[in-house]
Amino acid sequence: MSRFLSSRFATLTPYTPGEQPQNRKYIKLNTNENPYPPSPAVTEAIRASTGEELKRYPDPTAANLIRTMAEYCGVSEEQVIFGNGSDEILAFCFLAFCDRKVPACFADITYGFYKVFAELCAVEARIIPLTGDFSINPADYHRAGGTVLIANPNAPTGMSLTLAQIEEIAVSNPDNIVIVDEAYVDFGAESAVPLTLRYDNLLVVGTFSKSRNLAGARLGYAIGDSKLIADLNTVKYSFNPYNVNRLTLAAGKAAIEDRNYFTDCCNAIIETREFTTQALRDAGFTVLPSKANFVFVKNDRLHGEEYYLKLKERGILVRHFTDARISDYVRITIGTRQEMETLIKTTKLILEAIQ
Ligand code: PMP
Repeated sequence: MSRFLSSRFATLTPYTPGEQPQNRKYIKLNTNENPYPPSPAVTEAIRASTGEELKRYPDPTAANLIRTMAEYCGVSEEQVIFGNGSDEILAFCFLAFCDRKVPACFADITYGFYKVFAELCAVEARIIPLTGDFSINPADYHRAGGTVLIANPNAPTGMSLTLAQIEEIAVSNPDNIVIVDEAYVDFGAESAVPLTLRYDNLLVVGTFSKSRNLAGARLGYAIGDSKLIADLNTVKYSFNPYNVNRLTLAAGKAAIEDRNYFTDCCNAIIETREFTTQALRDAGFTVLPSKANFVFVKNDRLHGEEYYLKLKERGILVRHFTDARISDYVRITIGTRQEMETLIKTTKLILEAIQ
């Protein structure tokens, strides 16, 4: 830390993103990216945007993209905002909807960035522990007394709540906002977007990084009551009005329009997840029931960190977290069927070697 860093950030622990190795070619199952490339229509839309127009700023209102998304989701255009990844949207949410009097309420085991945003924004983090089996008990969120954040499905567990449970949480927090982070919803959980039409305190956040194959383009969004979206726009226009670049605006629109490609990729990943879950259970692993594009697993004969390191040595990257409650586990992104077969084969070799 330099002597110039503001004292506000003296104790800030930044988020540690999963490794993005540039040296060696790994089977990369560590950051929940989609194993399939973007749709050909997306690549074409990006190519068509690389001409002279790049000298101009992108449309700060993202009007075209918002129109397409609003139509796709069955909401009005005033109910949608886009950002540079959903991380940026989440940052806007912390700035807009939390402060010294309004804490952020979220689980002990969830997306690690929430804690960082709380620190960055000097907001109290009110931690609500998951139950013993890593599920979220909606009753624990009644009258939470602050802005509620729930990843559904949750990360890194992959476990999900039903719409009725999300609704229960929204209803029981009439004076606070409930933010549902749906980064992984398209892999088998139910989206709460339709509920945002009935509950003006419910905000859904989503991303194109996972189910829409566009992690590298950085595109995220929020959908909710038009007043909430106006609040988020106040923050956006006070921070970075041109937050989504031209190439990504075009890519996002094409990605929404190619519905078949989206469905095919999601179905393939779901099918491969079920195959992987069964194969790992057969090999003696505990696998939490996942509705996401990853599985959270442990094996009593192999500590999480050891498993992570042994896979890495053999060219497979997965994610290990050091938090005491989950250090026995690793999170494995669902790749292609072939990648997962290699993972299973390698895992069996690792287990044989420690007998
Ligand atoms: N929410 C959750 C639960 C995530 O796991 C991630 C991915 N790390 C994000 C949000 C952020 O995704 P992005 O910024 O790529 O849209």
